[in-house]
Amino acid sequence: MAQIIDGKKISSEIKEEIKSVCSQLVKEKKQLPGLVTILVGNNPASKAYVNSKAKSCNEVGMVSKIEILDESISEEELISLINRFNNDKNYHGILVQLPLPKYINESNVIKSIIPEKDVDGFHPINVGKLVIGEETLIPCTPYGILELLKRYNIETKGKHVVVVGRSNIVGKPIANLLLQKRDGANAVVTIVHSAAKNISFYTKQADILIAAIGSPKFIKAEMLKENVVVIDVGINRVEDANSPKGYKIIGDVDFDEVSKIASFITPVPGGVGPMTIAMLLKNTLIAYKHLTKNIE
Ligand code: NDP
Repeated sequence: MAQIIDGKKISSEIKEEIKSVCSQLVKEKKQLPGLVTILVGNNPASKAYVNSKAKSCNEVGMVSKIEILDESISEEELISLINRFNNDKNYHGILVQLPLPKYINESNVIKSIIPEKDVDGFHPINVGKLVIGEETLIPCTPYGILELLKRYNIETKGKHVVVVGRSNIVGKPIANLLLQKRDGANAVVTIVHSAAKNISFYTKQADILIAAIGSPKFIKAEMLKENVVVIDVGINRVEDANSPKGYKIIGDVDFDEVSKIASFITPVPGGVGPMTIAMLLKNTLIAYKHLTKNIE
């Protein structure tokens, strides 16, 4: 039976570490790190994400602000608000909740955040730095995966990591991060996507399998070798008559069968998911550190 990689526990540890840095800043009467989250429209799921980010900020003692904008706001108005926060010394991180309404060009908006405050790590300058192995703000979900591997002492050097999915927010950045020679990642990386003819051919070779597909229970035990380490990024809502909500959240991996052959596995929920918010806080702290030089 696989050892469970407990993302909930690790994320709490990271939040505690950040909380103690913030308490120290209070003691030293220094400015606190601040995160502003911008939401356009009132999509209930996005609103819930934004609220939980703000709640986590408050829990660790950071300053947080939510800007909710009317769906009718123009791209120019949104960018001008971002510019205001680019110049606001109270906020060290700026996060625009995606997706944006279709008429707003997401890429223009991401590029309008100064890279130093881009705590999502989506700005092309930060993406470029990540690819060439320079220190930068790393997108939160891949950053969370790195942290889980590190804190469970899972060796990546020389290991074959197979990433299923090539999105800009998960698949591509985690593949690039694990490929880096520095920081001990140093893995051999394969990226698989929907054009792959025989996915099992690749997944069966994985020492570490990262599933970021968006397809419930897509990865089966027969697609993997024994003792593989499995990181399940997927968050899929499926109907569940037994749940009071009428649905439940499951991953991209068939947990019941894969956990019998894997050496380590992340559950869904409670694996990668909780790490994403923890790493957003960590990124805000890193941005604060660079912008203020208030901490070592
Ligand atoms: P995207 O939809 O952007 O990307 C999915 C990727 O999976 C694409 O590259 C796609 O290939 C590939 N794919 C889809 N179907 C197949 C298939 N049948 N065979 C092989 N590859 C396939 O999703 P994201 O990367 O944004 O998210 C992936 C999952 O992770 C989702 O469930 C999402 O909810 C979850 N997620 C979880 C987060 C967390 O905090 N835990 C954060 C972000 C995402 P192609 O490029 O060819 O279309």
